[in-house]
Amino acid sequence: MTPSFRALLIEKTDAGSSARIADVDSGLLPEGDVTVRIERSTLNYKDALAITGRSPVVRRFPIIAGIDFAGVVEESGHAAWTAGDRVILNGWGCGEKHWGGLAERARVSGDWLVALPASLAPDQAMAIGTAGYTAMLCVMALERHGVTPSVGEILVTGACGGVGSVAIALLARLGYSVAAATGRPEEEAYLRDLGASTIVERAELSGPGKPLQAERWAGAVDTVGSHTLANVCASIRYGGTVAACGLAGGMDFPATVAPFILRGVTLAGIDSVMAPLDLRRTAWERLADTLDHRKLQTITRMIGLSDAIGVADEILGGTVRGRVVVDVSR
Ligand code: NDP
Repeated sequence: MTPSFRALLIEKTDAGSSARIADVDSGLLPEGDVTVRIERSTLNYKDALAITGRSPVVRRFPIIAGIDFAGVVEESGHAAWTAGDRVILNGWGCGEKHWGGLAERARVSGDWLVALPASLAPDQAMAIGTAGYTAMLCVMALERHGVTPSVGEILVTGACGGVGSVAIALLARLGYSVAAATGRPEEEAYLRDLGASTIVERAELSGPGKPLQAERWAGAVDTVGSHTLANVCASIRYGGTVAACGLAGGMDFPATVAPFILRGVTLAGIDSVMAPLDLRRTAWERLADTLDHRKLQTITRMIGLSDAIGVADEILGGTVRGRVVVDVSR
């Protein structure tokens, strides 16, 4: 019998699915050419959907949850990695169809791994996590479409969330003026400390709106979707870009083409799960260079693996601020 490891396991039940902390036999780890001893993982919005069973995120049962991790290579049959290397994983279907990072151990393809930047500790890498790496992908998409700090204010929706918090800190550090849209006005001081100079009430954007509205922002990072994304597109200045990455407010997009064909607005879709390696490496290097470590700490809460099931409910309840890092050893 091979040694066991602790993991957050999701199993199929008659009622849908259920999650529990389990001891899993290492001999059951899935196929892969690299085995990693995980140090830290995180709880992302998608993990919360998977753990609670609220959305059909999991496509193969039983599964270990967790779309990301930071850890140390234990064994490798992959040319790029040797035992002792520190690595990060984001996405690639982990926690959805391949066993994921909310565990003490994982076995994955070496093609999915990115080297942990030398200036980041595992805690910091996972304070960034998939949410922060996605925020960087959004910022890079704005840059690719010519949205520079001089062209005007950038709106970030779902501002107190993981993607939103990191996006604000990154944009502010890069010299952009940032407007933060939030449903939590009581978090104004937190958002201003991250670098937001304007606070926008979530309700201004969350209902049905006109196809074209006053031109307010040069660009946007949208984590909310639905009417919010439609209103954001309708309020972007001529030639601006919206990086759309989320659906915290809904999967639908009740919009018209007016902003695209009358104002030349670009809607840039952001996917972190299957993003190519080059883009990931660049995003992680830029995160390591750009983010202020003190700010990263202010957006982070550390929990143990055994707390993760309860905190998943809090995430979907919209009460968690910033990022949740999981110490898988407790
Ligand atoms: P969080 O739960 O940390 O944050 C979501 C934020 O959205 C909340 O904090 C809240 O911000 C706001 N919000 C929540 N519910 C609603 C609602 N009903 N209407 C409007 N706003 C709402 O999630 P993350 O930041 O980790 O992820 C944000 C979104 O991005 C998710 O949909 C996630 O699935 C997606 N995502 C996509 C990725 C990709 O590859 N495309 C990768 C990572 C995340 P506030 O309280 O400030 O209003």
